[in-house]
Amino acid sequence: MEWLLTPGPVRLHPKALEALARPQLHHRTEPARALFLRARTLLKEAFGTQGEVLILTGSGTLAMEALVKNLFAPGERVLVPVYGKFSERFYEIALEAGLAVRRLDFPYGRVPGPEDVARKGYRGLLLVHSETSTGALADLPALARAFKAENPEGLVGADMVTSLLLKEVALEAFGVDAAASGSQKGLMCPPGLGFVALAPRALAALRPRGYYLDLSRELRAQREGESAWTPAINLVGAVAAVLEEVLPRLEAHLELKAWQNELLYGVGEALGLRPLPEVRSPAVAAFYLPEGVAYGAVKEAFARRKAVIAGGQGPLKGRIFRLSLMGHYDRYEALGVAALFREAFSDILPAS
Ligand SMILES: *Cc1c(COP(=O)(O)O)cnc(C)c1O
Repeated sequence: MEWLLTPGPVRLHPKALEALARPQLHHRTEPARALFLRARTLLKEAFGTQGEVLILTGSGTLAMEALVKNLFAPGERVLVPVYGKFSERFYEIALEAGLAVRRLDFPYGRVPGPEDVARKGYRGLLLVHSETSTGALADLPALARAFKAENPEGLVGADMVTSLLLKEVALEAFGVDAAASGSQKGLMCPPGLGFVALAPRALAALRPRGYYLDLSRELRAQREGESAWTPAINLVGAVAAVLEEVLPRLEAHLELKAWQNELLYGVGEALGLRPLPEVRSPAVAAFYLPEGVAYGAVKEAFARRKAVIAGGQGPLKGRIFRLSLMGHYDRYEALGVAALFREAFSDILPAS
């Protein structure tokens, strides 16, 4: 077995594997409609919204793009703090969507504070909850509150790709109007589905555009348990199966994930490694590479133990490495990974 310690895709949940072994359903049949509706109901609970969750076939980035293009019209002013690779992606999507984008840059590893987004004159604010590229966690409720105090009509869109099932999320309670996520991170399913959660305020503000991305068309179809186009129904089954298992014991699940990630940070710090993020997301542990150690050497040391890890992205390429236990790992497997991490570094750092 290989230890997948990458921040997505991740080690699959056994319920996902089981669901994926079932015969093909046709998506325009009653059993498929029932499954699709069940998945949507469970996703609404997971996102903590009284609104709607739309299931799209594609990756998380598709959900981010659908969110931006269906909520904002070209020329509308949006604020986009950039503090990692994924907030940079939100910025690029907003530009491509023709929005008037105000970009705010932060050093990678940091997150914006409420004072940074308390600016008047914006229709929208786009935030990444858990910046997987740096391991940093943004305080969505505080940011949404500060932004809306200045822009009461404004809409807050969030990337919850690595916070869904990893950290408490709740759209309306957070003041977040729309959120995007995907199947291959905290949901412990294969890649292939994107989710767009729309709180009632976002539903009332939809400005659909695009063809495949037209969320009003999806909304009409998905309320009936279908989707406008052929869905990855097998993956929908996997997502429903995992949520059915995890949601009834969500609190314990989130505690386990937080404990596992802190376990990785604990090992790293004991080895003398410097963590990157200021405020830590439970999705991934990110460390600076030790002085004079190349990423390739770290990757190799893990690979010798059948473990796959991730490096840095963008400006962090060659400067950091990342480990994640957001896949399906129990407490004892996580302790095994902690031991593996220590052992891998004994190859890299001579004993002192
Ligand atoms: C993985 C990820 C995405 C989506 O990436 P895809 O490859 O399109 O699924 C978006 N945001 C964050 C924070 C992520 O970790």
